Amino acid sequence: MRNVLVEHFRGYIFAIAATAAALWVRSLLDPVLQERLPFGVFYLSVIISAWLGGTHAAAVAMVLGTLAAAHFIIPPASSLWITEPADWVSLLIYAIVGCVTIVTFEKTRCDQRNAEQRSTENQALTETLKKSDLQKDEYLALLAHELRNPLAPIATSVDLMARCRDDGRRFDALRRAVQRQLSQLVRIVDDLLDVSRYLQGKMRLVRDPFDFREAIGAAVEMLQPQIDEREHDVRLLIPDEPIGVNGDRVRLVQVVSNLLSNSAKYTPRRGRICIDLRTENGVAILAVSDNGVGIAEGDRARIFEAFAQVDSSHTRDHGGLGLGLALVRQLCELHNGTVDAISRGPGKGSRFEVRLPLVELPTPAIRVVKSRELVDLASTSVMIVDDNRDAAETLSMLLTFEGMKITVAYDGPMALDLLRRQKPQFILLDIGLPGMDGYEVARRIRADQRQDGVKIIALTGWGGPEDRRRSKEAGFDDHVVKPVDPGSLVALLRDVQPQSA
Ligand code: ADP
Repeated sequence: MRNVLVEHFRGYIFAIAATAAALWVRSLLDPVLQERLPFGVFYLSVIISAWLGGTHAAAVAMVLGTLAAAHFIIPPASSLWITEPADWVSLLIYAIVGCVTIVTFEKTRCDQRNAEQRSTENQALTETLKKSDLQKDEYLALLAHELRNPLAPIATSVDLMARCRDDGRRFDALRRAVQRQLSQLVRIVDDLLDVSRYLQGKMRLVRDPFDFREAIGAAVEMLQPQIDEREHDVRLLIPDEPIGVNGDRVRLVQVVSNLLSNSAKYTPRRGRICIDLRTENGVAILAVSDNGVGIAEGDRARIFEAFAQVDSSHTRDHGGLGLGLALVRQLCELHNGTVDAISRGPGKGSRFEVRLPLVELPTPAIRVVKSRELVDLASTSVMIVDDNRDAAETLSMLLTFEGMKITVAYDGPMALDLLRRQKPQFILLDIGLPGMDGYEVARRIRADQRQDGVKIIALTGWGGPEDRRRSKEAGFDDHVVKPVDPGSLVALLRDVQPQSA
């Protein structure tokens, strides 16, 4: 405000000085001009004021010039009266030219200001782009590092497995190592896909009322190897009665397991972790606390942002991509809940609290379920269709161990050709096949009456809701996302056993 006043004030001084100077020049020219061109030199004072002082100064200069001309130049002298029509015309022309000058200068000034503002904005944008480009490069390096971490032990284990085929105990230990590292890889890829799904607004929940204690149990079971490996002491304070939440079971297991896995990771060996579930005013509150590295006050909000890590340096102690807590927050929000981090500071442990609305659990309906144990998969005929020969062969080996009869096809036409001569009970069909894709193959199988009753299961890398909808439309009975967990696949085959089996 003060600056604006000073600016105006300076402009008015310019206007007065320019008009005075013009009047002085006019007085010098008086012997030559006499009463002719009364406003001539005042054009100059208006232009100079508009240039140096701005619109207001130019307007003041114009008024002062009019008064000076009327008073000193136009007869009758020493009076502001203008009587002659010629003088009125001169005044009119002076006013029009003055206004045009003021508007032109103002427009030029406006354009200049806009150009300067655009240039500042562009500079800021360039800086932001440069920064995000750098962050992207750093993140890609981190991602490559995190992906490479499990690959090294897998490569070594596979190499060693070939050498100690006869040493059953060692072979088994290597196999378990490969399994652990693979699940780590799968988790990284799943997290990346989940975050990108959420950012694109494509994450969908399959919600049902269920007992939240089940999600906690499943998460603890999942992370038991990590907890055992770090020798943590885990305490569970879980009520005896069910805690009903309306949620996506799989996603809520993910929420609990992400928090628990962080506690296991960010707590030094033989630490203490506590999982506490309680209810308060219609809300289920899950708290996962540890006596680990803790969180500084300034980092408490930031850690929930995607790709954010307190320590993302190459020399940091812990792996990870900074996606776990972002997913936890996103999933809690999608469940109309919240998550908070509480810590008394670095080295003083952390506590993460998830709050979800409580719901009444329906009385369990009595369902007659065919016991899995009773369904014998031996002699079940299965066709595997996958252009990745290694994937097809290893899956075939796995199912053969279960006693199933396997046929393998490496593309759609080959599968359709084989199906002219045989009728399997299951077809495990890859969707991304070259030439004729899995959708088309499934449609053709469904159109073939000889294959009535066959169960077609999609095996694919695409597991989004849209992909599941498309596979259902094409005639698939189920949809399994690669890499396939052998146990889950066998369980699925038991569940969807065709009537004829
Ligand atoms: P990541 O563990 O892959 O780095 P997360 O999103 O799970 O990513 O966590 C983000 C950051 O929050 C971590 O890098 C870590 O600094 C901090 N953090 C998460 N959980 C804990 C915890 N239990 N104790 C201390 N710090 C934690």
